[in-house]
Amino acid sequence: MNPFRYERAADAPSAVALLAQAPNGAFLAGGTNLVDHLKLGVRQPELLVDVTHLPFDRIEPLPDGGVRIGALVRNSDLAADRIIRARYPLLAQALLAGASGQLRNLATTGGNLLQRTRCVYFQDVTKPCNKREPGSGCAAREGYHRELAILGASPACIATHPSDMAVAMVTLDAIDLPPLTFAARSRYRKVRDRQSYVFALVSVAAALDVDEADGAVRDVRLALGGVAHKPWRAWKAEATLRGAPATEESFRRAAEAELADAQPLPGNAFKVPLARNLIVRTLLDLLETAEEETRL
Ligand SMILES: Cc1cc2nc3c(=O)[nH]c(=O)nc-3n(C[C@H](O)[C@H](O)[C@H](O)COP(=O)(O)OP(=O)(O)OC[C@H]3O[C@@H](n4cnc5c(N)ncnc54)[C@H](O)[C@@H]3O)c2cc1C
Ligand code: SF4
Repeated sequence: MNPFRYERAADAPSAVALLAQAPNGAFLAGGTNLVDHLKLGVRQPELLVDVTHLPFDRIEPLPDGGVRIGALVRNSDLAADRIIRARYPLLAQALLAGASGQLRNLATTGGNLLQRTRCVYFQDVTKPCNKREPGSGCAAREGYHRELAILGASPACIATHPSDMAVAMVTLDAIDLPPLTFAARSRYRKVRDRQSYVFALVSVAAALDVDEADGAVRDVRLALGGVAHKPWRAWKAEATLRGAPATEESFRRAAEAELADAQPLPGNAFKVPLARNLIVRTLLDLLETAEEETRL
């Protein structure tokens, strides 16, 4: 590990001022991603500015019915918050699907959003990687790419964004969480190689609003994780679903519309049917929950 300077910021302006003097420096929050990169040599900052004592660890209800989440709120605290669990269950579920209890106790909202890809070549400084070293090439395209992107990738890089939480955030159009009544009926579902401590192969975040009178989809929010360089909002699927009957057939048609542009590689072609089935199953689960609540 390279030597670096460590400073603890007293307030936000001094944190920014410290980093402005060291263009190769970095903010340090929970350190669960950054410290790994220091050890692996992926990053060699000259300065770490510890921001963990700044007063951005609050979850605040907003006058419009939304919620503001501070950048330093720990993932465990956000997942356990009563308002988040009741009004945005997809977000609590996404957080609990990530990492492990110990990691979530350290990891922060800001750090989670800004974590880097888990592409194995990005983390191996002996291998070519355009993202780590622009122009060096992409070892993943012809190499190991089982976890990597099927949608929206560039020829230069097929990495995926690894965050679960960010998929839920994108579904909600969040910087602050907006007031979205039907998000109370929402779900996050993640498929991975084992049950904990591992990133998504494919995940789905969804909220569904069905008109009880005619059984049509009044509104829907849908996003995918593990398939693209960013949390992938499924705009085409949403547009296909709005106004359509809330049925398995419609859900399948919507999933197929979203995945029509997929460009899988040999090692990750399985993600296309996996994503389709996961979308359909998640929407069916939400529909069944809505129907049960109506019967009660
Ligand atoms: C074994 C393991 C398994 C994991 N599994 C999952 C998983 O299944 N799903 C998942 O989503 N994540 C998973 N993670 C990733 C984990 O969620 C992230 O490492 C964590 O959320 C990062 O938050 P942090 O506060 O520790 O960030 P840090 O490591 O401190 O920082 C990460 C980056 O964000 C920057 N940063 C942090 N805070 C701020 C700020 N306030 N302002 C500006 N920049 C900032 C840092 O400079 C750095 O570049 C896993 C991690 C490990 C080690
Ligand atoms: S997919 Fe992106 S991160 Fe992975 S090796 Fe290629 S350029 Fe690097």
